[in-house]
Amino acid sequence: MNDLLTAVYPGSFDPPTEGHINIIERGLKVFDKLIVVVAVNSAKKTIFTIEERIDLLKKIFKKNSRLEIDSFEDTLLVNYVRSKRAQVILRGLRTVKDYEYEFQMALANKQLAPELETVFMMTESRYSHISSSLIKEILELGGSGAGMVPQIVEKTVEKILEEKRKK
Ligand code: ADP
Repeated sequence: MNDLLTAVYPGSFDPPTEGHINIIERGLKVFDKLIVVVAVNSAKKTIFTIEERIDLLKKIFKKNSRLEIDSFEDTLLVNYVRSKRAQVILRGLRTVKDYEYEFQMALANKQLAPELETVFMMTESRYSHISSSLIKEILELGGSGAGMVPQIVEKTVEKILEEKRKK
């Protein structure tokens, strides 16, 4: 039995936003160990490769023995969580719009792996409007991502968009 309380925070993180960062920082206060895992969501078209998203997350967070950044593909989330000997799936909630999807996923995961718990953290109100897709739209149209994404994310997104425009 793993004595450490370990949570897995899965997401697309395409790109990571201040909203995600806030959940990670708060998660580190609650759990002994937090594994942020970049997951492939086939329903979402992403602009960053998994490697790029991992790289961004690693650049945002300084080395911390309690924080691991990983990815998974072609595996059920619950199987990944079990393989890491974690007990908790951490998710963030922004609005009631998130609720329906999160409720369904949490119930499905409970049925698949009754020993695991999904824990939800309510967004801080200043981040409640922030989503990766909104950021992509703002940056694509030349707006500023200040306060919504770290500078490193803004710069990388701009670089990718610039390369796309050249093609
Ligand atoms: P997914 O494709 O799995 O929904 P996301 O990267 O969009 O991946 O989100 C990962 C998790 O982070 C989800 O639980 C989502 O609700 C949460 N999240 C995203 N943005 C915010 C935010 N601004 N505040 C709090 N939680 C957030």
